[in-house]
Amino acid sequence: MTALLPLCYILGSITFIVGLKMMSHPSSARTGNAVAAAGMTVAIVGTLFLYRNGGHGLHNYGWIFSGLILGGVFGVLAARKVKMTAMPEMVSLFNGMGGACAALISIAEYRHSGYAGPFTLAGLVIGSISFAGSIVAWGKLSGKVKDFAFPGQHVFNIAIFLVLVGAAIYTGAAGTDWLFYAIAGLSLVYGVLFVLPIGGADMPVVISLLNSFTGVAAACGGFLYHNPVMLTGGILVGSAGTILTILMCKAMNRSLTNVLVGSFGGAAAGRAGATGGAYKEMAQSDAAVVLAYAREVMIVPGYGLAVAQAQHACHELERVLGARGVNVQYAIHPVAGRMPGHMNVLLAEADVSYDRLLEMESANDLFAHTDVVLVLGANDVVNPAAKTDPSSPIYGMPILEVEKAKLVIVNKRSMKPGYAGIENQLFFQPKTSMLFGDAKGVLQQLIGEIKALG
Ligand code: NDP
Repeated sequence: MTALLPLCYILGSITFIVGLKMMSHPSSARTGNAVAAAGMTVAIVGTLFLYRNGGHGLHNYGWIFSGLILGGVFGVLAARKVKMTAMPEMVSLFNGMGGACAALISIAEYRHSGYAGPFTLAGLVIGSISFAGSIVAWGKLSGKVKDFAFPGQHVFNIAIFLVLVGAAIYTGAAGTDWLFYAIAGLSLVYGVLFVLPIGGADMPVVISLLNSFTGVAAACGGFLYHNPVMLTGGILVGSAGTILTILMCKAMNRSLTNVLVGSFGGAAAGRAGATGGAYKEMAQSDAAVVLAYAREVMIVPGYGLAVAQAQHACHELERVLGARGVNVQYAIHPVAGRMPGHMNVLLAEADVSYDRLLEMESANDLFAHTDVVLVLGANDVVNPAAKTDPSSPIYGMPILEVEKAKLVIVNKRSMKPGYAGIENQLFFQPKTSMLFGDAKGVLQQLIGEIKALG
């Protein structure tokens, strides 16, 4: 029987790798998720019933199944209820739970063995930081926690971190009980102080970074228990989180230091409202005619589309235009929305065909041959200042070059800026017309008008 357990772990590890690979394409992502979850189920069930230590299996099934049921029910309900725009918050909360688990494993192991080895301490410190940081990030994203910083905080944080490392090394060699728990407490304090000063708008990057911390903390648990599936899972989460953090920073053309120490999107938002000149407004009926008689239309979805929950209306517009022989495609910027892949997931939810989703490079090649670009609740990802204004905070960020198209229609509710808190010169260009209103309402009216054209 016990020979079956390593098999379960190998199967689990393989499914994590295969599942992760499948998540790299929207069409296979859902199945990839299911494959990895199935592997995790095999690993958990295997551990529950096949694990043997000195001939004995697990005995505290009451506790284990209570935890499984509680966590399972909470997880399913939360995932079912969550709105697409609140997804980063949920990821943050779940990530925090992972960090807490890793820290609790270290505490349980210490109480059990009375010895704090390097993996026990690393799991404790990293897991606690990840837990506390993720909870603060969750609070910030849900508007419950405000940005907070005091003069010299970065120096103070570095000092706490150095004390933590010193205390961990000392505890590893000749520690005492109180020092072990003091390290846990100090790690929690560090997690809070590390995330508190970072601008609320930068939380998605921070969450991705904390996610990689949780992966590393879980991998420490894998080393502690010589458990290959925990090790593989932890390493995959750790490396995927790190790669994602780097990709997000690259796509925003910002260094990680700038994200962690700067306050992009937080303080910068104060610069909203500067006037950039005159802009043109377009009537719904005119926009409907222009779209209905175009040949090539490119839709650029952004954060506003997600806020308005307008993905289904957007797909309906595509169908109505398609029925008239208009070729409609979507230009997807890597950081459009508030989390990586946000737009892909949103449009997939509305059954938009994946072949119509173009990555930034392909879309940029096509804009010159596009009759109408319809920007739906996107702002920073189409801001030409990223190419033309070296003083702009987004200078150097690759953008969707929509201004190359024959006509650009921008739908948003006002002239307010987006995430980066800066004005967008695109709105004032001669080719651009503004179509104000909530994305869902505007799309529904456009669909009605186009249908009425016959
Ligand atoms: P932006 O945040 O730049 O702009 C969104 C626009 O949507 C706003 O200007 C807003 O204008 C408009 N809007 C809001 N609600 C509605 C609504 N109901 N109907 C219509 N419009 C609406 O979004 P982008 O997607 O262009 O850019 C994403 C930004 O987020 C980038 O700066 C990126 O760096 C950043 N970011 C992205 C991450 C990711 O992983 N995707 C991670 C971290 C940051 P108004 O209020 O006038 O309606």
